[in-house]
Amino acid sequence: MEKTWQVRALKYADRNSRTRADSFIVDDDHDSQHSMDYFIWVLQSSERVIVVDTGYEYKEAARRDRPIIRDAAKSLEVIGIRAEDVDTVIITHLHYDHAGGLDRFPNAKFHLQKSEMEFATGPCMCEPDLQIPFTVEHVCEMVHKVYSGRVIFHDGDGEVEGGVTVHRIGGHSAGLQAVRVKTTSGYLCLASDASHYYENFMLQKPFPIVHDLKLMTAGFETIQNLASEKSLVIPGHDPLVTKLFPADGRSGFVWRLDQGPTTVVPEQC
Ligand SMILES: [Zn+2]
Ligand SMILES: [Zn+2]
Repeated sequence: MEKTWQVRALKYADRNSRTRADSFIVDDDHDSQHSMDYFIWVLQSSERVIVVDTGYEYKEAARRDRPIIRDAAKSLEVIGIRAEDVDTVIITHLHYDHAGGLDRFPNAKFHLQKSEMEFATGPCMCEPDLQIPFTVEHVCEMVHKVYSGRVIFHDGDGEVEGGVTVHRIGGHSAGLQAVRVKTTSGYLCLASDASHYYENFMLQKPFPIVHDLKLMTAGFETIQNLASEKSLVIPGHDPLVTKLFPADGRSGFVWRLDQGPTTVVPEQC
């Protein structure tokens, strides 16, 4: 029988100086404040650990003037994991807030979509607007990992471990992938930036950073199909996750996702 995994979200930053216009292309209310949380995720079976995304580091925080609350790699210690012991990392996409600090995982192999690497290193990056969410140092780091044999490329759907698969969604970034995880509650889908907020996928409201709008809206369906139920779709940046799911331990920045939400996910969030 396929093994099941525990899934945790670790929050490492938030940003409150945003408005709803920064989160939704079409929305009647453009001006209200709209916060964003930043997470990495950890999958644990009885014998294995997989980290999903690496967050961004203090240097990047200074560069973008977007402070972080804690070092994402170091924050793993609160659940008994040392970044240097991790051998498997899934990178959902190469945006600065998901693929910084790869060197903090010196013994890991990185699972990435082929199309994301091509996008981040190809002609699209001649376009200044498309460069904005990427940080060239992060992308170069990944190139180094390719040359040292530490990147496992996927092209569409792929298996990382029994019960953990990746699925190319595209839309927000050309090779954005969601992660499907088998848990005791059914299949959970870490949507990452396939849906930053519940509102994006539940109310079909595209996020303004978009590479292919049609793929983004199709992705809203795909992530729901990947999960056993809607409540097991985890948006990439929604502060509501920290309200709906139970806290794990006393650190104040870890939430347990695999047992499902303790509160019903509002239909109109
Ligand atoms: Zn992104
Ligand atoms: Zn993001």
